[in-house]
Amino acid sequence: MNQVAKNLEEVRKRIEAAARRAGRDPAPVKLVAVSKTVDAGRIKEAWDAGQQIFGENYLQEAKAKIETLGPGPAWHFIGHLQSNKAKAAVELFGLIHGVDSLKLARALEKAAAQMGKVQEILIQVNQAGEASKSGVNPEAAAGLLRDIAALPHLRVKGLMTMPPFLDPDEVRPYFRSLNELRDRLEQLDLGTLPELSMGMSGDYEVAVEEGATLVRVGTAIFGKR
Ligand SMILES: *Cc1c(COP(=O)(O)O)cnc(C)c1O
Repeated sequence: MNQVAKNLEEVRKRIEAAARRAGRDPAPVKLVAVSKTVDAGRIKEAWDAGQQIFGENYLQEAKAKIETLGPGPAWHFIGHLQSNKAKAAVELFGLIHGVDSLKLARALEKAAAQMGKVQEILIQVNQAGEASKSGVNPEAAAGLLRDIAALPHLRVKGLMTMPPFLDPDEVRPYFRSLNELRDRLEQLDLGTLPELSMGMSGDYEVAVEEGATLVRVGTAIFGKR
């Protein structure tokens, strides 16, 4: 077994154990293998080892790899997306994790309408208010959700967050509060929000314990970038 396959097995085991610790069914927890800077050959190793979803941050880089690998894998955009790149993103990705403004949502809506596609997205929330990170303030999330819910070619599937870089147990409150925010937003009756994208290599187990359904793991699968 190659190293990528071994790492994947380890990450999957840890996800399952974390879910069970929290009394959750592990089945709805999906692993997004973050493959930014990883070449197509090593992504293929992961695919051959049963990995289905890959996360990319940069459009040009992703486009080349998606073309090389061909049909099969599901691709998620997890980076910061500029409105003028909306068309390419809608063409390439099944789920866009980081939508954080109405301007971007409108650009995605227009692109999706032109393609006759309903684009699935997540709203990115910046809970700590860090200037260096994208995302809406938690207080602004309801307003953005309401505005996006009126756009017929977008479907909000849930929320995404990138908390500050802290020890795993210090990030726990951020994961928990994203889960709570989701519960409050669902009470607006604008549709269910089943997905919570949270947790990276350093803290995905804590995220799963706190309700993550999508964990974005790069380094623990592919090694240091
Ligand atoms: C790079 C990246 C990840 C993966 O980070 P690792 O620490 O390598 O697991 C997850 N989410 C986002 C948004 C990223 O940019």
